[in-house]
This record gives sequence, structure tokens and C-alpha cells, in this order.
Amino acid sequence: MPAYDSLLASITTDAVSARDVFDPATGELIGRAPLLTSAEADAAVDRAADAQAAWAALGHEERSAVLHRAADAVEAQSEALAQILSREQGKPLNGPNARFEVGACVSWLRVTADTPTPTQVVVDDGSDYAELHYRPIGVVGAITPWNWPMMIAIWQIAPALRMGNTVVAKPSEYTLLSGLALIAVLNEALPPGVLIAAPGDGGIGAGLVANAAVGKIMFTGSTATGKKIIEASAGNVTRLTLELGGNDAGIVLPDVDPEAIAEQLFWGAFINTGQTCAALKRLYVHDDVYEAVCDALVEVASSMPMGIGLDEANVLGPLQNAMQFDVVDRLVEAARRSGARVLLGGDPKRDQPGHFYPATLIADIDPTNDLVVEEQFGPVLPIVRYTDLDEAITLANGLDVGLGASVWSADRDRARDVAARIEAGTVWINSHGGVHPMIPFGGVKQSGYGLEFGVDGLKAASVPQVING
Ligand code: NAD
Repeated sequence: MPAYDSLLASITTDAVSARDVFDPATGELIGRAPLLTSAEADAAVDRAADAQAAWAALGHEERSAVLHRAADAVEAQSEALAQILSREQGKPLNGPNARFEVGACVSWLRVTADTPTPTQVVVDDGSDYAELHYRPIGVVGAITPWNWPMMIAIWQIAPALRMGNTVVAKPSEYTLLSGLALIAVLNEALPPGVLIAAPGDGGIGAGLVANAAVGKIMFTGSTATGKKIIEASAGNVTRLTLELGGNDAGIVLPDVDPEAIAEQLFWGAFINTGQTCAALKRLYVHDDVYEAVCDALVEVASSMPMGIGLDEANVLGPLQNAMQFDVVDRLVEAARRSGARVLLGGDPKRDQPGHFYPATLIADIDPTNDLVVEEQFGPVLPIVRYTDLDEAITLANGLDVGLGASVWSADRDRARDVAARIEAGTVWINSHGGVHPMIPFGGVKQSGYGLEFGVDGLKAASVPQVING
């Protein structure tokens, strides 16, 4: 049996409590994912709690070695994982999509394994001596969305395991097979009970937050769900890392070469067909280069093939689900009705299977239009014209979210000055959305709190303890 079929068969089920999974590009049934009851999810937490002390006792060196073995296992099954991801999430194998996502899982596991333990001597002045240590929390609940279902799961699982916690991981109900396949492969290398999947809907996630044996929730998803988790966390003072929604702005200064930046701009916005938290979701372009940037973007966007993920030629895929298609459709229609100029796309073929929405560029749009101020989470970019940089910065900062942002200029120093005035967790210069396992990542305002990646990410997956004396 090919690797894809045997991995898929190992995680699908004929149990009664299960959900049919359909390919978002074709509508075809691809598997049946098991669902846990609340009692089963609580039992998973108990098993993870039982396994935690022995896992913590292994020490950093041994746990790092295990994480490398887990990375080896993902590497060995990378093509099968990419195919499951592509069929269930919809993202193509090629481009910054499925193979890229599985590759990122391997790098994050390895870099997290090798990141130095964040222990430090904070005072040593002859009369006082104090060390700051980072200890395991216990059981970590890892709750993920459907857009990058493997990579985001690893962002939570790898630091949590590395710091001596055990993990109960709840994949999104829209991408259960991707989450289950990844966890099955990781478990080839991990001791039993250290990482347990809890497939289910939001109710299973809420159960993890309410469970007193879960010491920390690492959550990535919408701001609306994040707010519910904050309220529910009060019961047990559960620790939280919240990576929530965004509506990233990009500001293009008048000194750019439009053709030179067009491809980077395109991928900043259209990576994963726009279904990315820190994608460029609204672009402010100076009047001097406005038409040239629009033309260059149309040229790049028209050359990008969209279609079924398993077709090697494609780099853009369908939206993952009908709900997201409807959000994108509604926002584009609102923009069109307002008199904005549709440069490209905006005309989905509704009589064909799959949740395909074409790459869409919208110019001359009012900065208060819903397509600009709401998170579209799809392959659509509104392009706002500006003449006064201060006004563009005010518009960029005008929303209640602040995940990422970008500034585009031939003058790096000038771009850095503008970046310093933008309210966002990360501001990229002449690119948008790139992440690195050693560079801290997190949002400000209602995009959440807490950092992931690197030493800060390890600290976030542990509790500080001072040894004084
Ligand atoms: P979502 O909030 O609907 O769901 C995310 C997860 O939370 C799912 O697993 C869901 O089952 C679970 N959930 C739902 N209700 C819950 C509850 N009451 N308690 C606990 N868990 C619950 O988000 P989504 O639609 O899957 O993902 C898209 C959103 O995620 C977008 O807003 C996007 O910007 C955001 N996102 C943010 C980041 C980031 O790093 N900041 C990354 C990716 C996606």
C-alpha cells in the first residue's frame, strides 16, 4: 500500500462517533475522522497527566533527542503527510503550501530541540545569589485552526514537549485528518501518553480549557474564540498563549520599484490562498506608484495557477470550507457595490465543484469598506490609495488587531522609521509574513498575547521558578 493510503487508513475509522471528511477541491469523500466524547477527552488529559512526571524526568538532553527522532519520523513520512494535508485542507503540494508546511514541521521540531534551555543567573553580587529556572507546567492543551493544521500544531507541541510537559492536542474540526496524521507520525518516536490527540469540535476545546488538570492552553484561532477562552480560563487561572486573528496592513512608500516588489507583495497576501493569520490583508499604496503597483500585481496574480492541490502545477487552491467561501464572497460583493474597481477576479464559478474563489485584486476602495476593515481570510487584496504617509499610518493602526504589518521602500532606514510607528507584533520590511523558529512571533491588541518560537517560546511553555540562595 502506498505511504499515503496506509497513513490515511491508520487514522480513519468506521466508528459511529466520527465525521466524514471531504476534499474541498472536489467534494469527494476522502475519509472518516474519529471524534472523542467529552468523557474520552477528559480521560486523555488523565493519561497525559500520568505520563508527565516520567517525561519531565528524562531531562532536556534526552527530550531533545526524542524531538529529533520525531522530526526524523515526519521527514520519513513527509510526502504522505503533505498529500493528506493537501486533500483535506486544499492547499497545493507545491508553492508555499503543503510540502512547505510539512518541511516547516521538521525545522521547528529540530530548532526547538536545539534551542538552549532558558535558565539564567539573575543576581550574583557576593551577597545575593538567585537563579531563574523554567519548569514544566504539567499538561498543556494545544488547540489549533484549520489553515496551517500541521505547522501550527508543531508550534505548540514542540516547545511544550521540550520543556517537559505532556500535551493533549485538539485539531480543528475542519482538518481532523491532518492533525491526527501528524500526531500518529510523531507518536512513532514519542513515549506513550506524552502526546495525545483529542479530535472534536469547539466543545472538546472548551472541555480542555475547563479541565483543572490542564495547566496551560496554547490557542491559535479567531479573536472571538480567544475571548471565550480568556473567560473560561478564569476558573482555574489557566495560563494562556493566544495567537488570534489579524488584518495585516502593508504600506508602500513612493520610492519602490513596483515590478521588483510585486511577487513578494503577492505572496505576502496570497500565501495559502490568503488563509493565513499574518498575511497581508490590506495594502496602502502611495499615489505616485499606485497604478504601477496595481498593474504589476495583476500581472503576477494572473500567472499563478489555481486548482486541485495534488496537481503539481498549482500554487493556489480552494478555500478550505464553504463558510470561508461565503465570507470572501460577501466582502468582495460589498466592495463591488461600493464602487471599488475590480482589477482581477471576483467572479467565482459557482456551478463547479470545490470552494474555489479566484485570486482577486480590488483598487480604489474606501478605507472604511468592510473588505478593508474585516479579516477576509481568502485570496483577495484591497488596495487603498494614499498621498499622506501620516494618514496611511493612522489607517494601518486604526483597527483593534495587530498581528503583522509591512513597509515597502528602497530606503531601509526610512522604512524602519515607519515600522516603529506601526502597532503590530511584527513589522516586516520589503516582505510580509515570513516566520523563523528562532524569531519570536505574537500579536498585540486583540491579535492576542504571549510569544511563540525561540527562547521566548520555551519560556511560554513553562513556569518560572526562582531559586534564591
Ligand atoms: P476558530 O477560533 O473558529 O477555531 C480554532 C480552534 O478553536 C478550533 O480547533 C475550534 O474547534 C476551537 N474552539 C472553538 N470554540 C472553542 C471554545 N469555546 N473553547 C476552546 N476551543 C474552541 O478559528 P479558525 O476559523 O479555525 O481559524 C481562523 C482564525 O484563526 C483566523 O481569525 C486567523 O487569523 C486565526 N489564526 C491566527 C494565527 C496566529 O498565529 N495569530 C494563526 C492562524 C490562524
